[in-house]
Amino acid sequence: CGVFGVIGVQDAANFVALGLHALQHRGQEAGGIVSHDPEQGFNSARRFGYVRDNFTSTDIMETLPGPLAIGHVRYSTAGSKGAAIRDVQPFFGEFAMGGAAIAHNGNITNADALRRELIERGSIFQSSSDSECIIHLMARSLQRDIPERMEDALRRVEGAFSIVAMTRSQLIGVRDPLGVRPLVLGQIGDGWVISSETCALDIIGADFVREIEPGEMVVISTEGGVESLFPFRRQKPRFCIFEHVYFSRPDSILGGRSVYETRAAIGRELAKESPVDADLVCPVPDSGTPAAIGFSQESGIPYAMGIIRNQYMGRTFIEPTEQIRNMGVRLKLNVNRALIRGKRVILVDDSVVRGTTSRKIKEMILDAGAKEVHFRIASPPTAWPCFYGVDTPQREKLLAATMTEDEMREHLSVDSLKFISLDGLYRAVGEAEGRNAACPQYCDACFSGEYPVKPTDMIDKGFEM
Ligand code: 5GP
Ligand code: SF4
Ligand code: MG
Repeated sequence: CGVFGVIGVQDAANFVALGLHALQHRGQEAGGIVSHDPEQGFNSARRFGYVRDNFTSTDIMETLPGPLAIGHVRYSTAGSKGAAIRDVQPFFGEFAMGGAAIAHNGNITNADALRRELIERGSIFQSSSDSECIIHLMARSLQRDIPERMEDALRRVEGAFSIVAMTRSQLIGVRDPLGVRPLVLGQIGDGWVISSETCALDIIGADFVREIEPGEMVVISTEGGVESLFPFRRQKPRFCIFEHVYFSRPDSILGGRSVYETRAAIGRELAKESPVDADLVCPVPDSGTPAAIGFSQESGIPYAMGIIRNQYMGRTFIEPTEQIRNMGVRLKLNVNRALIRGKRVILVDDSVVRGTTSRKIKEMILDAGAKEVHFRIASPPTAWPCFYGVDTPQREKLLAATMTEDEMREHLSVDSLKFISLDGLYRAVGEAEGRNAACPQYCDACFSGEYPVKPTDMIDKGFEM
């Protein structure tokens, strides 16, 4: 998901709509905005579909006045599947001191347990979303202001959260102690911005100030400026390494590094680790593009657009059913036949999850007359599900959970298939010594099976680590 909030500008909701549009890659199912106006109080609009189709009409935007607004773009992860407007964020709740609205990116790993407890104590839930727990915990807290209530609530929450919240007069941003999901602070004139990624600051012409730190909470008001708090026990950060590989936009800055540069470095590392003689390096667009450029730079094999992407399709992975996802590949990608015929082709993609994309693409490429097909993947085999906000399927559906690399190559029937090593990936993201096995610098659970936060609810449901 993507979150965005602005304080201290006229008609803040318009800025939020633009920010969400720039974060659309983080969630395409639905979006929502809550604004606050001193006279009208809180207002909200939540819609299915793209930001540009909903939050551009004056009909809607006029219902969201005020100098303070937050928003959310959603893609559903484990737990609540399918579409229900009641699950679309931000969530707003009226309670002591005027209430609050929150937008959450990440996944709460003890949400089921918390929900059971809260319902027993009388909370009335409106949605099936894990994020709603936070509002109820805040409503029940006995602290005397809303930021303190939020601290109270979040100390009971396990898992990944990057949250943008608002009271009647404050914009709040907070990251879980491991800092699994990104969150940045920006400035626009006298106003302040909090965003999942820096690319959404660019779209409104805001300056990037800094990242919100893991475990940090910033409380921003027009009079008071930015107050920074560290309400949680300090831990060693474990940022999601897959944000670098796939999830973030290549024009964003993560951990002081350009995501594009990191991805090109992954491609170069991959070319060093698993070279192969071929005529062309082609990305599987768009997710494989920067890594393919890096692969071509390092290997000296020409880069070419052997697969063309239809720009009017979204991310296939986000399609909820298997059948649509199967079709999705053809709706989205087509082979540039004239270029491919008779060639030995290296295809670079960011990840193999179920293997659907790779299998279809291999068929299309061979159909077009390629002589050889070599897959190079910019992440290690995805063998474990993510419980922190990226929608990987159950373990059984992950190709790498049931097959060795050799079996996968056979299953995809390609001439070769190589994944970057975990150490290679760490080198590419800037860890010269590779992965520190005793104390890994990132979350890499979907590759290593080492979960930095115990997935309590999933273990209750029988998941075996
Ligand atoms: P597959 O077809 O193997 O199931 O999925 C791999 C493709 O899904 C890759 O091309 C990748 O770009 C894309 N993808 C989209 N969203 C996600 C996600 O949330 N996780 C992973 N691992 N891959 C994703
Ligand atoms: Fe990121 Fe994978 Fe960790 Fe999920 S399990 S937070 S996708 S590194
Ligand atoms: Mg892809």
